[in-house]
Amino acid sequence: MNLRHILWPDVDTGLWNDWRWQYKNRLKGAEGLFKLSTLLQKDLSHLSHVIKTYRWASTPYYISLIQDKNLLQDPIGRQIIPSPHEIQKQSYPQLSLDPLKERLYSPVPGLIHRYKDRVVLLASGICASYCRHCNRKRTWKKPEHLSLTKHALNKVKAYLDANPEIREVIISGGDPLLLPFKSIKRVLSVMRSIPTIEVIRIGTRVPVVLPMRITDRLCRLLHKNRPIWINTHFNHPREVTKEASGAIEKIQLAGIPVSNQTVLLKGINDNHDVLKSLFCKLQSIMVRPYYLFQCDQVCGTLHFWVPLSKGIEIMESMWGDTGGMCIPNFVADLPEGYGKARLLPSQILDMEDGKEAIFFTYDKKIVKIHL
Ligand SMILES: *Cc1c(COP(=O)(O)O)cnc(C)c1O
Ligand code: SF4
Repeated sequence: MNLRHILWPDVDTGLWNDWRWQYKNRLKGAEGLFKLSTLLQKDLSHLSHVIKTYRWASTPYYISLIQDKNLLQDPIGRQIIPSPHEIQKQSYPQLSLDPLKERLYSPVPGLIHRYKDRVVLLASGICASYCRHCNRKRTWKKPEHLSLTKHALNKVKAYLDANPEIREVIISGGDPLLLPFKSIKRVLSVMRSIPTIEVIRIGTRVPVVLPMRITDRLCRLLHKNRPIWINTHFNHPREVTKEASGAIEKIQLAGIPVSNQTVLLKGINDNHDVLKSLFCKLQSIMVRPYYLFQCDQVCGTLHFWVPLSKGIEIMESMWGDTGGMCIPNFVADLPEGYGKARLLPSQILDMEDGKEAIFFTYDKKIVKIHL
């Protein structure tokens, strides 16, 4: 099945590779669902109810990566096609729209300050493609909105000026690389005007869902504002396409290292072979797998949860079987705002300083070592 030829048969390569065309022609809302259902001859009307609660949009490029007609069986389709499970009344009383208590840790609008030396800046309220597993679904309640106002950005600056222990700003959202060029430039230059901010980190899924957005002009702007690190979000090896790798290479050629955060998702990547293939492919395009996240306990994402023990088993089996450069930290962001916790247990079973320690080896032997 080639969805590009079914859904956009007459679009030439020039337009297809133009990010503005891709953005303008996103399938979105009830209208987009209707178009998808007509062209695929599938009844998707039951989903219009879901998208009244959680908005829906995705780019032609990303939709065209779907290969399975059964959209929710496909690892790409499952990430973007709404599911009735999202709005089912769930029997987990702890489910919240904001389990990480990001609003509680927000000293000024748009800023999350949980750890002493780094903050998250929610600079954008839009994404090219809305991931059904997103942990900020709470911000989708309003219509799509662009960015922090100048006034809000000034308040953020005042807070950062007053708190010099903060050395890193993680610009996130939404997707900050979807803001108008001028707004990206403004956010970067305000951050750069604060002498205590040493490093800027940008969280973006653009290289995965709208790789055409990585233009030469954008790369020049990023280059000028280094040190910048980019963290992107690949979840499946099929996302590592020629287009995505090309976008990554452009960022790297601008002198910016790229790392990746993956979310462990049921029916998408919750097995050893898929994750190994994803992490090795990322390493081969010089993207460092940084975190594998246990899916947060956020309302509307229950159907993606993988038991903790399964994730640990997969990651343990990867150790020794895969190069260390390909293996991310497996972490959970604990509910109630307790922060991130590393999940893989230590391989030390017992130890006495100056005498000996008992280790559990990568291939499951138990050895006693004198240290
Ligand atoms: C995840 C997170 C960070 C970044 O943590 P790292 O371990 O440095 O990647 C910073 N602030 C908040 C609020 C976070 O949730
Ligand atoms: S790109 Fe990031 S912020 Fe946007 S929907 Fe996906 S996970 Fe959420």
